[in-house]
Amino acid sequence: MTESVGVGCARAGGAAVWSPSVVPPIGVELSNSQALAIAFRHLADIGFAENMAGHITWQSDGQTEMLVNPWGLWWAELTASDICTVDQDARVVAGRWDVTPAIHIHTELHRARPDARVVVHNHPYYVSLLASLQMLPELVHQTGSLFLDDLCLVDIYQGEVDTASRARELVGHIGGAQVAILASHGVIATGRTLAEAVYRSATIERVCKLAYHVMLTGRTPEPMKRSDMAGMRASLIERAADVYWAGAARMTIKADRHVLD
Ligand SMILES: [Zn+2]
Repeated sequence: MTESVGVGCARAGGAAVWSPSVVPPIGVELSNSQALAIAFRHLADIGFAENMAGHITWQSDGQTEMLVNPWGLWWAELTASDICTVDQDARVVAGRWDVTPAIHIHTELHRARPDARVVVHNHPYYVSLLASLQMLPELVHQTGSLFLDDLCLVDIYQGEVDTASRARELVGHIGGAQVAILASHGVIATGRTLAEAVYRSATIERVCKLAYHVMLTGRTPEPMKRSDMAGMRASLIERAADVYWAGAARMTIKADRHVLD
């Protein structure tokens, strides 16, 4: 992670500058399982679709149990009733299916990070491309400001993270970052809310895709000022995350209402 922006030089942004008086609603009251099923389908639609890998967990504030997708179903086919519940030690306590042995990444991250209520993990293509080069995307476009001082590279690959002790080691490498790119593997994105985690997930794949294409031009992009990026970061997380999520939910429901079943 890079050094923090000094408070004195950071430009204001987000709710401190402007908040909408009204926002378009999802239009449906969603249970947590329904919302999570929508998140899976939306992210599958935009690249989180390796299909034999990837998981999202959601541990609500004050709870020890967490919601998770089952082993073996594709993200794009999940419905609300497919969502399983596991306890903090990864035992399935509700649901029709089994869950991944890599669930420990999530149980240990939730345990260590009160701010990480939602944890997304998958191998979207452009993140995986940079992960294979063991590098972070250069933040050369304003949307990349979302990850200013909040992105880390775990630059060692040690195979499948299938035990709690391996997961604790990984969590130690991630530290306080909201998004981690795992060398030769994929991405972990977190959020206080489902909206934040989904927005960060969608955005890191887009930012990696853009960074890759910028690299292909062979030209050197003009750097943005860190002070401007700090204000933009606040605007993206405080304003964009919720409306992005609401739009994703509306479009996903519109495409197939069975996601709510
Ligand atoms: Zn993985």
